[in-house]
Amino acid sequence: MMKYVSTRGQAQPVSSAEAIKLGIAPDGGLFVPEEEVRLKCDELAAMRGMNYQERAVMVLTKFLTDFLEKEIKEYVDAAYSPERFDHPHVAPVARLDNSTYILELWHGPTCAFKDMALQLLPHLLTASTRKTGEKAHIAVLVATSGDTGKAALEGFKDVPGTSIIVFYPAQGVSQVQERQMVTQEGSNVHVVAVEGNFDDAQNGVKAMFQNQGLETAMAVRGIKFSSANSINWGRLVPQVVYYISAYLDLVSADVIEEGMPVNFVVPTGNFGNILAAFYSKQMGLPINKLICAANANNVLTDFINSGVYDRNRSFKKTISPSMDILISSNLERLLYEITEHNDQKVRDWMDSLRERGRYEVDSWVLERIQNSFWSDFATDEETKATIRDTYNTYGYLLDTHTAVGKKVYDRYVRVTGDTTPTVIASTASPFKFAGSVAEAVFGMEIAAEHDEFGLSRLLSEKCNLSIPKGLQGLETRPIRHYRKVLPEEMANVVLDILSG
Ligand SMILES: *Cc1c(COP(=O)(O)O)cnc(C)c1O
Repeated sequence: MMKYVSTRGQAQPVSSAEAIKLGIAPDGGLFVPEEEVRLKCDELAAMRGMNYQERAVMVLTKFLTDFLEKEIKEYVDAAYSPERFDHPHVAPVARLDNSTYILELWHGPTCAFKDMALQLLPHLLTASTRKTGEKAHIAVLVATSGDTGKAALEGFKDVPGTSIIVFYPAQGVSQVQERQMVTQEGSNVHVVAVEGNFDDAQNGVKAMFQNQGLETAMAVRGIKFSSANSINWGRLVPQVVYYISAYLDLVSADVIEEGMPVNFVVPTGNFGNILAAFYSKQMGLPINKLICAANANNVLTDFINSGVYDRNRSFKKTISPSMDILISSNLERLLYEITEHNDQKVRDWMDSLRERGRYEVDSWVLERIQNSFWSDFATDEETKATIRDTYNTYGYLLDTHTAVGKKVYDRYVRVTGDTTPTVIASTASPFKFAGSVAEAVFGMEIAAEHDEFGLSRLLSEKCNLSIPKGLQGLETRPIRHYRKVLPEEMANVVLDILSG
């Protein structure tokens, strides 16, 4: 059976069910598979003829070895059903031109790629509590930069044996994102605005996992915490599937021959999505470069280009808010993998990050990272210009995050001359960020005349696209969640909610 070990090396190896139930390792590290998981050549070939759900079962069973194949099939079929995903291929690949493809990851209920994992995670988590003999009620704590929150709320609403509490930065999300969350229905869901940015919310949640007093207070009430953030392995592993699936779709469409490499471009914040791409590469998927696209919060770009991770810089609010992050949690997993599981080094770097807000990796580590990754960033102006140009050239409407990816990819091609077929991960529907997208396409004057909901309708009419079901009628849904706290009050509000 595959065991999962902590990136900080001070926790017992556990089963995948245990890792998913815990969310974060007891030593503060993140769980990763103890051994590399490989795809055999004939397995990749066999997956070509499969649909998305079947491919997902194949990949997930390799990582989650304490689950039966028929269990995983049941969860996958429930998660990626036609009622939940409005596209029969679940994660279809669209073509821009002969070398540029768009992997649409936003056909789920909340219109962002987070659904790809968060529709599945509740099934994995409830099964994991069962499998590990856990009797406690599971309280899922989530920090969100905007999209995880809604996707997790939808995934966990009314799931027996669970509650979910989502913390979002009060001024850090789009109007649509906020409205999606504060109107959430369900008997076990709670939404709390935090006066701070995403890093404050994420640090607050991480601190609660380390807070012994809070843990004891919860234990008395028969409650245990878990996480639906991408620190949870159960969040990460479903994301590996769509990179493999996209590759196979390109083979089926005769864009590439099997075995030929592709690049993936990933608009990146917490480093979860692109890390899943890295794991697919580790499994043997022929990937040339993973292109890490950042916005003006370009801490990852600097890191990949210099080996210095330095969060001591001002936090910038951008039009791609889901990437407004200065502490990318999942980078810790990459460091552990790149150093071939050197937990001592990872601990030193993470200590340095906590104490000084920065760390610098050794040159051989940087070289290995640069072997797989390339990175640059796009400003808001560049992002808007890219949305406009892409729409005018291809008639394809990008959201602000995906446009960051497209801009960075264009620069990559100019700088490197690399013509390898490339897939850009499209992380959200343009309707989710209708305000900025409409401003990019129609100009400032027209955009100023409407709110985001009006601009959504305008985009729908002028671009001849229908507003996704999950975003229809949002402005008239009743608001159900009003809580707002300071970062230091997060633990108290959790106590308050869960004691009620
Ligand atoms: C979460 C999110 C991202 C960033 O993904 P990470 O896994 O955090 O790197 C990018 N775009 C959108 C739309 C998102 O919701």
